[in-house]
Amino acid sequence: MSKDFLQGVRDHYDAIVIGSGLAGLTSANILARQGRSVLLLEHHYQLGGMATWFKRKGGHIFDISLHGFPVGMIKSCRKYWTQEIADSIVQLKGVRFENPQFSLRTSFDREDFTRILIEKFGISQETVTAFFDFARQMNFYDDQSMTTRQLFEKFFPGRSDVVRLLMEPITYANGSTLDDPAITYGIVFSNFMSKGVFTFQGGTDRLIELMKAEMLKNGVDIRIRSLVERIEITPDRKVQAVWVNGKRISCGVVMSNANIKSTVLNLVGEEHLDKDYVAETKAVRLNNSSCQVYIGLKPGEGFPNQGDLLFHSEHTGFDVDALLSKQVSSRTFSFYYPETRPGSDRWLIVSSTNANYKDWADLPEEQYQADKAALCEDTLGCLEKYIPDIRQKLDWIEASTPRTFQHYTRHLAGASFGTKFEGLKVSQTLPQQVSGLYHAGSVGIIMSGWLGAVNYGVIVSNEVDKFLASGGR
Ligand SMILES: Cc1cc2nc3c(=O)[nH]c(=O)nc-3n(C[C@H](O)[C@H](O)[C@H](O)COP(=O)(O)OP(=O)(O)OC[C@H]3O[C@@H](n4cnc5c(N)ncnc54)[C@H](O)[C@@H]3O)c2cc1C
Repeated sequence: MSKDFLQGVRDHYDAIVIGSGLAGLTSANILARQGRSVLLLEHHYQLGGMATWFKRKGGHIFDISLHGFPVGMIKSCRKYWTQEIADSIVQLKGVRFENPQFSLRTSFDREDFTRILIEKFGISQETVTAFFDFARQMNFYDDQSMTTRQLFEKFFPGRSDVVRLLMEPITYANGSTLDDPAITYGIVFSNFMSKGVFTFQGGTDRLIELMKAEMLKNGVDIRIRSLVERIEITPDRKVQAVWVNGKRISCGVVMSNANIKSTVLNLVGEEHLDKDYVAETKAVRLNNSSCQVYIGLKPGEGFPNQGDLLFHSEHTGFDVDALLSKQVSSRTFSFYYPETRPGSDRWLIVSSTNANYKDWADLPEEQYQADKAALCEDTLGCLEKYIPDIRQKLDWIEASTPRTFQHYTRHLAGASFGTKFEGLKVSQTLPQQVSGLYHAGSVGIIMSGWLGAVNYGVIVSNEVDKFLASGGR
C-alpha cells in the first residue's frame, strides 16, 4: 500500500501554505510564531523549492541556487528565522569576470566597483557617484517607464563594456534584461552593492534542515509529497479549503507559493475570477529558465583558487539573446571549496547558464539526453581554460535543464526567477479577487532570488495575520 503522506492531518487550519520555497517557508514560520495553526503542503519529497540540493554516489552534494545573495539576508534571517541561521551567512569575496572586453576580480561592492569604474574604465568620480546614488534611491513607487537600457544610456552612453560589468551578474541573478523597468535593476543591484555577495555556510541542505527544525518547534504541520490540486472558494469568493492528494482540508486562509499563473489559472480557475484580472494574469510574462552542469571532483582533489563566482563569456559584448542561447557562449561558474561544508574534502563546480524552455521542452528523449551530454562536454572544455587537468580529477558530472526545474518545482516553463515585472501586481491584487487568498513567491523580478522571496514571504504573512485577526474580513 502506498504511504499516506497526509495521515493524521487535521480537518481545519487557520492557514494553509502551498509550496515550500523560501517565501512559503518564511510565511509558514511567521504565521505559526504568531500562534496560527499552519499546514505546509509541498509536492516534492524535499523542502526548499529552488533553494535545493541533491546528493550523488561518492558523497557529492550539489547546491542548485546557492551562488550568492545580498547582505539583507542576514537581517531577514535573524528577525524571521533564527540567530544560528543568520550567523551562518558569510561573504564571498572572489567575484571574477573573464570576457573579451575585460578580465578582473572584485569583492562586488560599491567601494570596489567605484575603484574599478574609475581606474579601469576611465569613468569620472562624479558620474560613478551619481549613478550609484540614482540606483540606490530607486524604489517601487517610482516612475516605471524608464528601462535599464535608458538608465545606462543616461550615465554611460555608448559604453558596452561598462554595461556588461554592471548588468551581466544581475541578468544571471534574476533573469532581467535591458528592456525591463530600471527599478528592477536599481533595487537588486543596490542590494548587492551595499556590502557584496553572501552565501550560506554548510550548504542549502543545512539551511533547510535548520528552517524545518524551527518550523516544527513553532508547530507548523509539514507535509511533503502533497500536491495541491485545487483551491476551493465559495460562490461569493471566499477561500474555504484546498484539495490535496484527493483530500479536502478546510482553512481560513490560503497562502500560495506556487507560480502565480498556476495559482490563478489552475488552482483557482478563471471561471471564478474577474475577466480583466484573468486577462492580466494571462498576459504576465514568465522569466527565463536555466541549465546547469554539476561537476564533482574525486575526494581530496582540488584546484588553485579560482574565485567563488566566475562570469565567463566568449561573446563580444553583453547580449541577452546570446546569454539565453542553446549555443552557449557565456556561463557562470560557482566554485565550491571544502569550506562551503566545513569538514568536507570536496571541491565542486556548478556551471549555470540562462536558458529558454522552448529550446529543451519538446526534444525526443534520445536527443534530450544527447544534448545534455553535449552541454557537459562543452562545459568541461571551457573549464579546462581555468583548470587544465579537470578531466583527470573528475568524479561526477551531470546536467539539468529547464525541464528539470519544471519537474521539481512545477514552475511553468521551468521559470527560474518567477515572472517579469507585471507579475507583481497580479500577485498583490489576488486577495481583492478572492477573500483570504494570498500569493508570495518569485514575481516581478524584485521579489525573486533568495532575499526577494524571503522578504515577500514576510510582507504577505503580515497581511495574512491582519486578515485573520480581523476575523477574516
Ligand atoms: C539555477 C538557479 C540558480 C539560482 N541562483 C540564485 C542565487 O544564486 N541567488 C539567489 O538569490 N537566487 C537564485 N535563484 C533564484 C531563487 O532560488 C528563487 O528565486 C527562490 O528560491 C524562489 O523561492 P520561491 O519562494 O519563489 O519559491 P520556489 O522555490 O519557486 O518554490 C515553490 C514551491 O512550491 C511547490 N509547489 C508548486 N505547486 C505546488 C502544488 N500545487 N502543491 C504543492 N506544492 C507546490 C514547489 O514544489 C516548490 O517547492 C536561482 C534559481 C535557479 C533556478
